Amino acid sequence: MTLDSLSRDQLDAFLAEQQQAYADLQQAGLKLDITRGKPSSDQLDLSEGLLTTPVEAHVSGGVDVRNYGGGTGLTELREIFAELLGVPVGQLLAGNNASLSMMHDSIVFAMLHGVPGGSAPWKDGPVKFLAPAPGYDRHFAICEHLGIEMIPVEMREDGPDMEAVRAHVADPAVKGIWIVPTYSNPTGAVVSEQVAAELASLETAADDFRIYWDNAYAVHDLTEEHAKSADILGLCSAAGHPDRPLMFASTSKITLAGSGVSFLAGSPDNIAWYLSHTAIRTIGPDKVNQLRHAQFLGSPQGVLDLMARHREILAPKFDTVLRILSERLGPHEVATWTTPKGGYFVSLDVVDGTASRVVQLAKEAGISLTPAGASFPYGKDPRDRNIRIAPSFPPLQELTLAMEGLATCVLLAAAEKAAS
Ligand code: PLP
Repeated sequence: MTLDSLSRDQLDAFLAEQQQAYADLQQAGLKLDITRGKPSSDQLDLSEGLLTTPVEAHVSGGVDVRNYGGGTGLTELREIFAELLGVPVGQLLAGNNASLSMMHDSIVFAMLHGVPGGSAPWKDGPVKFLAPAPGYDRHFAICEHLGIEMIPVEMREDGPDMEAVRAHVADPAVKGIWIVPTYSNPTGAVVSEQVAAELASLETAADDFRIYWDNAYAVHDLTEEHAKSADILGLCSAAGHPDRPLMFASTSKITLAGSGVSFLAGSPDNIAWYLSHTAIRTIGPDKVNQLRHAQFLGSPQGVLDLMARHREILAPKFDTVLRILSERLGPHEVATWTTPKGGYFVSLDVVDGTASRVVQLAKEAGISLTPAGASFPYGKDPRDRNIRIAPSFPPLQELTLAMEGLATCVLLAAAEKAAS
């Protein structure tokens, strides 16, 4: 029964019922955490072989992997990921762990030195980025940290609201847009071919506008279906803006989250530009880890086979989250949520104005959730309704308890609001 359709007495009874359920939840003394999209230890175990893979041939492509040098990363690993990401090997760099640091650095380099096609370092003027929301909090943190003003635009099922994007890029201070094209964080949205083509051909006031195309979940399917990412490099080149996109990816959620390999793809000019700056910062990436990855993964198919094993672990967890949301919240129509076909998150929208209350109630019952608003620029969800659920890390049994508890908190917060 929906809350709107209840009489005052029925609503009071419903509220009392939820208060009792919440009191019981608090009594249970839980200590659960569904905050961050980290792989579980079962998933990390899938790459245990990486730690015991002997790095026998020290020389790869003429480079002794134990030594300095080889700024572009090892060719055999780049070949595997060039195919998976649909980019030319020569336009793909392999780095250290954490693609986030490549994103951070590429923006810092732009701020300090400018980019190909630009006339001045970005720091010389105001810099604004379009921030599709809900989106990835660490993208927003980079902007905040570097003094880049974020302009939220709505993230839809097929990508950002392009009407809003078109209006904002008329401002020459707008230098970039964040895009997670495949199984976005947190909604699981996949940017359509059409939206990608529109982004590629946008008329922007800034000559040096960049698309930060963070393909963190390119091969992270949760079903048998694979959502192929749009070819943003090809689309931008065809539209006459070859330097517009910078693509990022990593093995953080393929092998070991803290000890993976990151990737950056772009036009030849962007790659040369990036290398010219990283050459000052480092004498080369960790090629021993790259060689271990190349040997352990073997081929593009080797990566896909490993991802299928991740899926076996992850899919039941997502199914559990969706089942509990639908059983507990569905009948009352107090929330909507996404049904992602890949990636690491479910995005839950509760009754407007209650997300912070839900997170607080959950915390007081021993369930840690990502702070309300985290998926919005400056942590401000204008409707205070969005909660990001990260099902991957806890074992299934703990996840089930956490989700049942979360559902109780959503219902209590909705009942409190309806009764107030
Ligand atoms: N990009 C997105 C969209 C993510 O969700 C995450 C992790 O949650 C990352 C990047 C982090 O990537 P990496 O581990 O390569 O720094």
